[in-house]
Amino acid sequence: MKKEFVVIGLGRFGGSICKELADQGMEVMAIDQDEDRVNEFASIATHAVIADTTDETVLKNLGIRNFDHVIVAIGADIQASILTTLMLKEIGVKNVTVKAQNDYHAKVLDKIGADHVVHPERDMGRRIAHHIVSNNVLDYIELSNEYSIAEIVANEWLVGNTIVDLNIRAKYGLNIVAIKRGGTMIISPQAYDTIEPNDVLIIIGADTDIHRFEKKLSQ
Ligand code: ATP
Repeated sequence: MKKEFVVIGLGRFGGSICKELADQGMEVMAIDQDEDRVNEFASIATHAVIADTTDETVLKNLGIRNFDHVIVAIGADIQASILTTLMLKEIGVKNVTVKAQNDYHAKVLDKIGADHVVHPERDMGRRIAHHIVSNNVLDYIELSNEYSIAEIVANEWLVGNTIVDLNIRAKYGLNIVAIKRGGTMIISPQAYDTIEPNDVLIIIGADTDIHRFEKKLSQ
């Protein structure tokens, strides 16, 4: 069965989620209080509706309770984002993902029962900063406050060594979970796999350990 989603707020973030879900063949109801934005999504979403989601009657009449997952992508109007999230949880929506504008907003969203709180601008800023500081770091994805996954291009210090030679786990507390090589992916590489030029290592570990490793790479 196709999953059914609701996206509330069709700015750049909500709009992009809506397009991607529709491209993946999902049923999407797109909601915004702005008529022009809704018109833009009329041919993309399964249904596009003009509505103010801070009105509980509106949420009930749209039958939002029956959808698998609701994404609240209201940006600047933090009050509207909080109120919408609160009512979605009150009417019994199981999965609610909300975009937070800042840490205070995120705290409130957690307290009122949002299932996932995302910080797209903050996270993207961090990812880009890691790439800017070290050209070897292609991407950096936070898993929690302390742990992340980083994609690192092998440089001359790494190439030609086996995983055992590098001993990254003992020296840095990091695990190489995969190696991207050309179009293929080596999952859980073995101790005697040798790093080749242009390999991309996918490593997981504590942020402090990843930073130490990044420093070593850029020396
Ligand atoms: P982005 O960065 O994703 O472009 P943003 O952070 O600039 O978004 P806004 O443009 O403030 O966010 O809000 C996103 C959308 O949410 C807007 O199109 C706005 O009309 C819509 N929106 C705001 N409040 C409500 C509401 N109460 N009900 C429905 N839609 C709303």
